[in-house]
Formats: sequence, C-alpha cells, structure tokens
Amino acid sequence: MKNIVPEPPAIVRNEAAAIQGLFERNVIPSYSRFNLVLSHGSGAYVWDVAGKKYLDLGGGIAVCSLGHANPTITAALVEQSKKLVHISNLYYQEPQGRLAQKIVSHTGPGKVFFSNSGAEANEGLYKLARKFGHDEGRFEIITALNSFHGRTLAGIAATGQEKVKKGFEPAVPGFFHVPYNNLEAIRSAISPSTAAVLIEGVQGEGGITPASPDFLLGLRRLCDEKNLLLLMDEVQAGYFRTGRFGSYQRILEGTPGGNEFIPDGVSWAKSMGGGFPIGAFWVREKYANLLGPGTHASTYGGTPLGCAVGLAVLQVIETEHLEQNAREQGDFLQQKLRELQNQYPHLIEAVRGLGLMLGFQLAARIPALKGDKPVSLQVVEMLHDAGLLSIPSGNQVIRLLPALNLRRSEAIEGIEIIASVLRKIS
Ligand code: PLP
Repeated sequence: MKNIVPEPPAIVRNEAAAIQGLFERNVIPSYSRFNLVLSHGSGAYVWDVAGKKYLDLGGGIAVCSLGHANPTITAALVEQSKKLVHISNLYYQEPQGRLAQKIVSHTGPGKVFFSNSGAEANEGLYKLARKFGHDEGRFEIITALNSFHGRTLAGIAATGQEKVKKGFEPAVPGFFHVPYNNLEAIRSAISPSTAAVLIEGVQGEGGITPASPDFLLGLRRLCDEKNLLLLMDEVQAGYFRTGRFGSYQRILEGTPGGNEFIPDGVSWAKSMGGGFPIGAFWVREKYANLLGPGTHASTYGGTPLGCAVGLAVLQVIETEHLEQNAREQGDFLQQKLRELQNQYPHLIEAVRGLGLMLGFQLAARIPALKGDKPVSLQVVEMLHDAGLLSIPSGNQVIRLLPALNLRRSEAIEGIEIIASVLRKIS
C-alpha cells in the first residue's frame, strides 16, 4: 500500500546543523534554545550528536528525577504498555488508584486529580478556588511577585512576572501579586472577593528563593482566619527534590508547629514521572469533593501508563533512599558552591536552595564577559563548553536541578567544572 504521509528525508546522524534546520523550518520558535543537539543519555550524563558527553545537573528542568534511561522506568513503560496504555477516565484502573494513595500518604488526608503537566495541575487549583468561593462571589487568588505557575492563560495571569504576560492581554481576571515571604503584604491584599493564596514552597523560575518557616506558618493562620484556601505550587520544588516529599515539609523541619502545617491544595508535575509527562493536584479532605462529577476532566490525565511510571519512580525513590540522597548531595553541592562564592566573591553574589534545588547568583555585571546576553546565559554556555548542563533563571541565577540519584562523584565532577569556568572568567 502506498504511504499517505511521505517518508521524511533521512537525517544524517551527527549532523547537528541538519537537525537545527528541521527546527528552523518546522518548529514554532517560542523557545530560545541553546546551540546543543542532544541524542541520548544514561544516568547523570547525556551525549550530543557529535558524541560529546555532558554531566546533566539541569535534569530537564527538575524533571529527570532518576536520571536518563533509568531501567526501572523503562521496565514500567514496557510492562504496562503490554497491558493497558489508555482507557479514559470513564473507567477505573489500578495504577491511578495506587498512585493517588501514595500521594495522599505523603501529603495528608485528601484526594488527587491527575493532569499531564504543571500548568494543568495549577489550572485545577484555580478551579478549586473558584468553586470554593463561588456561592459567596469570591474568586480572586493572591500569588507572589517573581512566582511562576505555567504558560496557560490563567497560568500567566497567576505568574508574578511581567515578561510572560506581554502580548497576551487581556489577562484572565482575578489574580493579584504581592511580595513573596511578606505576610503583611498578603493581609493587605485580601479583599471580600479573595478565595485563595497560591505560593511556591521554593520559587524556582524566580531564582531559587525558599519560603521562610515563619511566612508559611503565618500564612496558614491567616488563611484559616480569613477562610481562604492555602494552595501550594510544588511543581518544581516538590516530590522529594528538596529532600522531603513537600518543600514546605523540609522548610518547616524543626520549627515548632511545623509538623501540623498542611496546605488545602498542592500541585506537582516534573519529578513525578521522571520524564514521562504526568502532573497532579491534591485537595485536602475537607474540600476533596468540591470538584464533583462533571466539574473537571482531562482525557490523558492519569493514564495507566503514566501512573505505572509514577509508581515506578516512587518505588525507586523509596528503595534507593533518594530522599536522603537529595539531602546529602544537595548539602554537599551547596557547601562547595559557598566555598566557590568565598573564593570568587566578585563573581558569585549568593548561593540559595534546599536539597537538589540549588541556585547561585552571579554578579549583575562581570567585566570579563563581553557579550550582550545576560551573564547567566553566558556562563551556562561556558559550562556547556566545559561539559556541564545547568539551567539559567532570569539574568543572574544559574540553577542546579539534577537527578535525585546523583552520585557524590558526579557532584564533585560538577563542582570541578563550575570551578574551572569561574577560574577562566576570573
Ligand atoms: N509551576 C512551577 C513552579 C513551575 O516551575 C512550572 C514549570 O517550570 C510550572 C508550574 C509549569 O509546569 P509545566 O511546564 O509542566 O506546565
């Protein structure tokens, strides 16, 4: 039989320019991409099409929680795909129920809805807030300046950064931004229309800024006092990245009253699937039936395949004690970054983060860097040349968001590469 769709022309392997050409001609240019064409990975490493090896401390922006080509993920994909890939949410299936149970056990009594991405998980939280406030005419959600909540229309309205909104006005109504870690600013922003407050436990795209314990506890009290939902976007910071399932759990460790802290809704994605697209949001028991039959849906949300992978990711995290590993390797990396800051105070202004969610802030101007691009991009590119992948955040911050099973030897290698680049700049 004749092919309806003609075969694409063969791509000559190792030809980065040919692949980039395909993108230029056929892919919408909404991303600024680095000049790297990657072909495969294994554990903490990836290779480009020319065969150059890179240590991946960017983890696909906090996604590849078990590194690349993890055999347990591969096995889960293969085994589940032989049974059921998809059935729709008109029916019950075991993997979704079991993954929801796991998430509830890590978060608290409540229920879970599955999505495909972080932005979609947050959409569910916005709808939860609107449903919650609906009968009283309350619909507004207070979020933080510098926050990031995704690229859907409501996501960019929720995000506290002007750059994501430009050109897409009018904004979805009902979102207000106030300074992060500032309880009084939230109190002042509350109006009779306010239904919820949404914050990240650690701001990721905003430059790796953790919430303070006092802010979290004060926010819980304020939301109780004003009958507002306290919603947490854990898409980047959650799912063991900081060394605890919830970043807020890690932040509140050792703080009196911290163990009792529980949000009303939480969203996740990224690390959940180790690269397979899956997201979710959890709603506290009291509000868990607000989104009743017919109120919310997703064709692909929580497929048997996605949830089988999600369960496999959790199984590896548990059996390999990756919660502890994220803490140990994260503390080590942070300590070494601080030593580099002491060595190069004119290059590194600050080091921030928790567990394997780390950022170092470069000086706004580094005379040795002559290019027009922001310093963060220039240094990330120099790190590429030296064989390391990292993630820029804004103009000055470089993020490290590696796999949760990063080895000490790989952490040491990463620091050595960063040190070599700083030495060169210095
Ligand atoms: N929320 C936070 C905190 C994020 O960091 C991101 C993505 O970077 C999102 C939401 C959006 O997630 P997604 O890109 O999966 O839609």
